[in-house]
Amino acid sequence: MKRRKFIKNASLTSLGITVAGTLNSCVDSSENTFVNPKIKPQIPVVIATWNVKFATAEAWKILIDGGSALDAVEQGCRIEEANEKGQSVGKGGLPDRDGNVTLDACIMNEQGNCGAVVFLQNITHAVSVARRVMEDTPHVMLAGKGAEKFAISKGFKKENLLTEASKLAWKKWAETSQYSPIINIENHDTVGVLAIDKNGDISGACTTSGLAYKMNGRVGDSPIIGSGLFVDNNVGGAVATGLGEEVVKTVGSFLIVELMRQGKTPQQACEEAIRRIVDKPNSQYKNFQVGYIAVNKQGETGAYSIHQWFSMTKYQNGENQNIQSDYFNKNC
Ligand code: ASP
Repeated sequence: MKRRKFIKNASLTSLGITVAGTLNSCVDSSENTFVNPKIKPQIPVVIATWNVKFATAEAWKILIDGGSALDAVEQGCRIEEANEKGQSVGKGGLPDRDGNVTLDACIMNEQGNCGAVVFLQNITHAVSVARRVMEDTPHVMLAGKGAEKFAISKGFKKENLLTEASKLAWKKWAETSQYSPIINIENHDTVGVLAIDKNGDISGACTTSGLAYKMNGRVGDSPIIGSGLFVDNNVGGAVATGLGEEVVKTVGSFLIVELMRQGKTPQQACEEAIRRIVDKPNSQYKNFQVGYIAVNKQGETGAYSIHQWFSMTKYQNGENQNIQSDYFNKNC
């Protein structure tokens, strides 16, 4: 099933809304690395949000050949950015309410360096522009026209990202143009990729066209380091998908990595981060989806979401699998 379908199936139709064992760790004081010497790390490994087996396969190829986790996560994201059928990422992404496709992406490496682009238009591979920001500028984030100008100066091709299919979907939506920034009327899903290479180094990246039919100028969690993505090479990494506003409010990915640092497994940490959202006073969690995936230094992984139908794709020990995530809201 396509990612869009997954999240659609998690919709709360009554509202017409669509959504998406403690690690026995110890600290190696010399390196401050959270590893359990009794567990052989299951690496290399790559995990990604949603059912994106082509993306994880591309990343795995790089990892198994001894390539870096950074290259693996970038190339994994690029597969989905180039896939015009995926209407939530890169070319073919659904536009904002005014018909503009605007992309958000970020990337973070094992040294704790990062780069991001927000409100990027006319460039398919937002994740690679984010990498150039990280590697070729003294900054972390470039926005809008500045990001586009920078991308073009680095040789990226200017393209129209609004495909006929996405234009049609937008025109249909525009017939009624019902929208609430909190309760989404459309589905959405970011592709986030986390990898550990043969050296044990961790990197992560994520890329999205954000919420379909969002307000012009809206930026979500995905390019915000700590919210949509966070990596600490001593501990692990986490990445988010779903209603970005809720992820930003709880700084979800940073929270998950810090919980793993305190000894939680990736699964426990993802569950705790979801609880922080649903336990808020007057939480509207029944009306939206958020999902997290995480990996720790050992290559253990976790995934959890508010509603059913979130999934993680994992390539580990030579096996590329799409795995349904456990979820919080079992009562409807
Ligand atoms: N998190 C993204 C955003 O809020 C959307 C998504 O994951 O679908 O922009």
